[in-house]
Amino acid sequence: MTTKSVDVLLVGAGAMSTTLGMLLKQLDPSIKICMVERLDYVAHESSDGWNNAGTGHAAYCELNYTPKKADGSIDTTKAFKINSEFETSLQFWSHLVEQSVLPSPKQFINPTPHISFVWGEENVEFLRQRHATLSATAAFCDMEFSEDPEVLREWMPLVMQNRDPADKVAATRVRYGTDVNFGELARSMAKHLGTQADFDLLLSRIVHDLDKQTDGSWNVTVKNTETGAKEVINSQFVFLGAGGGALPLLQKSGIKEGKGYGGFPVSGQWLVCKKPEIVEKHLAKVYGKAPIGAPPMSVPHLDTRIIDGQRALLFGPFAGFTTKFLKQGSLLDLPKSIRTGNIKPMLSVAMKNMDLTRYLISEVMQSHGARVEALRNFFPDARDEDWTLAHAGQRVQIIKKDEKLGGKLEFGTEVITAEDGSMAALLGASPGASTAVPTMISIVERCYIQHRGKSDWKARIKSMIPSYGESLNDNPELLRSVRERTLGTLELLDRETVTA
Ligand SMILES: Cc1cc2nc3c(=O)[nH]c(=O)nc-3n(C[C@H](O)[C@H](O)[C@H](O)COP(=O)(O)OP(=O)(O)OC[C@H]3O[C@@H](n4cnc5c(N)ncnc54)[C@H](O)[C@@H]3O)c2cc1C
Repeated sequence: MTTKSVDVLLVGAGAMSTTLGMLLKQLDPSIKICMVERLDYVAHESSDGWNNAGTGHAAYCELNYTPKKADGSIDTTKAFKINSEFETSLQFWSHLVEQSVLPSPKQFINPTPHISFVWGEENVEFLRQRHATLSATAAFCDMEFSEDPEVLREWMPLVMQNRDPADKVAATRVRYGTDVNFGELARSMAKHLGTQADFDLLLSRIVHDLDKQTDGSWNVTVKNTETGAKEVINSQFVFLGAGGGALPLLQKSGIKEGKGYGGFPVSGQWLVCKKPEIVEKHLAKVYGKAPIGAPPMSVPHLDTRIIDGQRALLFGPFAGFTTKFLKQGSLLDLPKSIRTGNIKPMLSVAMKNMDLTRYLISEVMQSHGARVEALRNFFPDARDEDWTLAHAGQRVQIIKKDEKLGGKLEFGTEVITAEDGSMAALLGASPGASTAVPTMISIVERCYIQHRGKSDWKARIKSMIPSYGESLNDNPELLRSVRERTLGTLELLDRETVTA
């Protein structure tokens, strides 16, 4: 027996579902949405402040987005893609701030220079070449490069303090990098949605089962985690935005597009410092190079975090291993996700990724002293007693079938949609919440514009996101005007310092 019927059921109340809910309500205020969250609070898993690094990924500082090619040149493909995707997110957030849908930008996004920092002859040469390649383009034209210790000391005093003068070091900087509190952003969006007609947020409700109906809709069984009561909600469209919980639900849905997927959870840990006398000396996100053999999401960085108006420092991530798919999940998550359809890719990945296994074991075994020693590469004067260990969220990396290898492990994100557009799921976690807006737009395109004939929505999306449907990388004039708007509206920098 169904208790209610809706147009859209959003599973999970993190950055992704709240973004999709907000987009859909902006496109059609009459759309009937129900959001179901297993916890008693919005965005308390990966999207929450300390559960992620809060980097507005724009490829300004992340060296793993610009690998060196075999011919010695720099591959910038990923950097341009992520940069323009982040510009899409910034435009949507600007639109919401302009409409007073989102609160003052300072509550969820803050300017925090993005710096890449390297040491050693070879790495300095790489950074110089990366800077020369990127800064010649409109997207990265404000990127500065320096090897001058005086300049670097000004950019990042803690990093340069008491550093051996014989060290060969260099850095690049983009001043309008960002620190984003994705938890606050999601909660602000959920709060606004809660004021709208035809929007229901059900907290402490876990989605248990999903049954496809003959009319194409879904009956979704939801259990109240406090009372144990069950209800069945009928929905025309379901989004599995359950973070690490999306894979088990995708498997339960039985859609053929979800077959063969597996998940490999990697947890994260940070060293955190809240001592004002240290925190006040560092205002930047300083990204280094990942150690050899380490997975891409383990690039070490020393970051300013601004959460609930409080500044703090974070260093990490240090990887950890658990079989839970969610921070507040169950140790049975991984074993229960093994199916006949994904056992081959999972075994193949397990056998072929011994270096990752070794890396995870070495990370898990590290002592506090060893972690602070790693921090001293970035902050030579760091003292063990000023830093404490904090546990971040879970990232469930995607394992999928591969004809040649049997299975492969992927570190990106993947949107899976049912053939008829009645369901979409998001797997993986990188680049993550920074690209939530373009990722959710891709779901709107596939499931609404394509499958439900909502082609008139394209013009509405363009009115909110002026670069929609165009390439920012091929259109420097559009990029300049888009940046002027977003940096101004989101209070990220004075217009005069932007030359894009
Ligand atoms: C260590 C770490 C560092 C990161 N750093 C960054 C960064 O610097 N920049 C960046 O952009 N991204 C970063 N990310 C990625 C980013 O945090 C995620 O991409 C993003 O938060 C995912 O949002 P989500 O809504 O999909 O998932 P979540 O925020 O995890 O939300 C999913 C929600 O679904 C709920 N749920 C799960 N199962 C069910 C169920 N069966 N029924 C009902 N509800 C359910 C959960 O309780 C949860 O609230 C990082 C992630 C980690 C773990």
